Amino acid sequence: CGITAYVGKGEALPFLMQGLSKLEYRGYDSAGVTVLKDGHLTTVKCKGRLTNLEEELKKYDMSGCVGIGHTRWATHGVPSNLNSHPHTNMSNTLSIVHNGIIENYRELKETLIEKGYTFKSDTDSEVVVQCLDYFYHGDIIDAVHKVLAVIEGSYALCIISTENPDKIVVAKKDSPLVIGKTDEGYVAASDTPALLAYTKDVYFLDDNDIAILTADSVSFIDKDNNPIEKEIVTIPYDM
Ligand code: GLU
Repeated sequence: CGITAYVGKGEALPFLMQGLSKLEYRGYDSAGVTVLKDGHLTTVKCKGRLTNLEEELKKYDMSGCVGIGHTRWATHGVPSNLNSHPHTNMSNTLSIVHNGIIENYRELKETLIEKGYTFKSDTDSEVVVQCLDYFYHGDIIDAVHKVLAVIEGSYALCIISTENPDKIVVAKKDSPLVIGKTDEGYVAASDTPALLAYTKDVYFLDDNDIAILTADSVSFIDKDNNPIEKEIVTIPYDM
C-alpha cells in the first residue's frame, strides 16, 4: 500500500503515478488518484494493477496542479473499484487517501448514517472523509483536528478540498509518510523512493504531526495546533 501527493507549479499526475510505481514493492490490490482543477475534483480508481489505472486515466482530463494518489492493500472491504481510494464526500468537495486501519470505523459510520450520510464503500477509510465533511465549517485545519480527535487506529492521510484548492493537508500516526521539497512545490509519499526522482530534500513526519503543503510553503503543527519546527534532511544517495 502507498500514498502520493503533489502540490506545485507543474502537473500533479506524472508525480503521483511515478510515485505509486516506486511504492509497488509495498504491495497493493487496487489504485486510484484525485486531481483538483478549476474547483473540481476528478477521481479515477480501479481494482488491479497500476496499468489498469493508467488505461482508465486515458478517458479523463487529469490535468491539475494538486492531486493525491493511493495504492490499496485491502483490510476492510474486498478489493473493488468502489472500495479503492481516494474516497470523496457526497458533494465531491473533499477527497482523501488513507493507509492504515480506522479501528472504530463501525461506530463512526453508524453515527454518520444516523445524521444522513450515505456511504459508497465498505472500507474503514471512508469514515475519514465523511467525518471531515461533518466537521467542516470553512476551516479545513480545524476540521482535520476534530477528525483526528475521534478516529482511533493507524493512519497516513492526505486530504484535498475544493474550498482550499492551494493546499494539501497531511497527517500521520503509526503509518509512514514523508514530505519532499521540489523545485516545483511540495510532495508527500509513504516512502522516500517515491520522491527521489523529484527531490532528495525531505521532512520526516512523526506520529500525530500534521503538515500543510502549498506550492511554495510547508508548515507543521501538532495535535493541539501548536507550530512545530522541522529540519529538512538531504538524502545522501542515488536510487
Ligand atoms: N484500511 C484501508 C482499506 O482497507 C486502507 C488500506 C491500506 O492501507 O491500503 O481500504
